[in-house]
Amino acid sequence: MGQRSQRGFIAEELDRLESLHQRRSLKRLEARGASDLFFQGKRLINFSSNDYLGLSEDERVKRAAKAAIDQYHASAASSRLICGNLDLHEQLEKELAAFKEKESALVFSSGYMTNIGLISALAGKEDEIYSDELNHASIIDGCRLSQARIRIFQHRDLDHLESLLRSSSATGRRLIVSDSVFSMDGDLAELPGLVDLAEKYDALLGLDEAHATGVLGSRGRGGCEHFADLGLMEQRQGSIDVAMGTLSKALGSFGGFVACSRSMRDFLINKCRSFIFSTALPPSAVGAARASLDIVQQDRGLREKLWRNTSVLRKKLQERGFDVGPSETPILPIRFGSELKALTISAGLLEMGFYVPAIRPPSVPSGTSRLRLTVTAAHSEAQIEALVQALDCLRAREEQSADGG
Ligand SMILES: *Cc1c(COP(=O)(O)O)cnc(C)c1O
Repeated sequence: MGQRSQRGFIAEELDRLESLHQRRSLKRLEARGASDLFFQGKRLINFSSNDYLGLSEDERVKRAAKAAIDQYHASAASSRLICGNLDLHEQLEKELAAFKEKESALVFSSGYMTNIGLISALAGKEDEIYSDELNHASIIDGCRLSQARIRIFQHRDLDHLESLLRSSSATGRRLIVSDSVFSMDGDLAELPGLVDLAEKYDALLGLDEAHATGVLGSRGRGGCEHFADLGLMEQRQGSIDVAMGTLSKALGSFGGFVACSRSMRDFLINKCRSFIFSTALPPSAVGAARASLDIVQQDRGLREKLWRNTSVLRKKLQERGFDVGPSETPILPIRFGSELKALTISAGLLEMGFYVPAIRPPSVPSGTSRLRLTVTAAHSEAQIEALVQALDCLRAREEQSADGG
């Protein structure tokens, strides 16, 4: 039993993933902009970015990042509780709190770190967490880390959630968690119903607004604003105990945040291990996020362009018979089922000048491999039309080869 046999599992596991068409590898990009990127010397139109408003390349955002470096340097040099807490962090938190209509906010090193720290701070062994079956991996990991009893409810199924809540045997707290926009399907949580159930069963409600921040609602404030705009929800953010989000999607920067009550913020500063034991966000990320947050609120035009592009892409896909499922957002997935088929279409698109990676298990349930298209404000209608034509052409080619033609 030498070291050799101990290490054999690495090659074995990689071979196993390969045989399932589930092995992943990194693609090395030479440059990336809001709607395009360079890969193997070739310019490709990018339909996979989360930079929904194109803010990562906005000159105002980049200038703010540089100014923050000039004033505060390249690193925060320690965790927030040691010597990493700059006035800059607290300014961003104040602005995030106002944006989310909450008393306060707390920023973290990433959205992933936010969720694992937040959920494991809010729930423990005696508690129960109710989690939508399609919640993001960072929520799943936060639930596991908490050691609470995890009760998974069927996707967006309020009746199922209620039946689980009714049969609760928790001696401690109950926490309901959901994405507000589901990251692989682009559909929305039934927020008004979640709020009602949280109230009825005295549960805490946590919402992951990663893909909603800057995107949903007339002022980009997220899921609550979206439903309030539709007149389907009276209270806005007040009914959500903790709304988390990321600075790294529509805000074009990096980091995560929680918007919550002042006492919840104090609690998290004391109890949240991913906050306590990790270096504070670098000044550049904070500076960039502040500038983006300002643009998101001042400039409705960008969001209007994003939604115009979304409806153009959805309509063109539907006209050609592509099923994008229940998506209501700029995330428009086309399911191909098998990993191989999704990979083949993705490779075909690459050849034709479009970058759309295939999304496979474990990012999505087995048998639901897909191309996950995301459209941004930076795309032109001509780029969208060209993408849909390419997809059409590749599908025809696939069908021909399936017929043995
Ligand atoms: C991307 C994402 C996260 C993680 O955010 P990062 O800032 O990228 O770590 C969390 N939740 C959801 C739903 C996401 O889509």
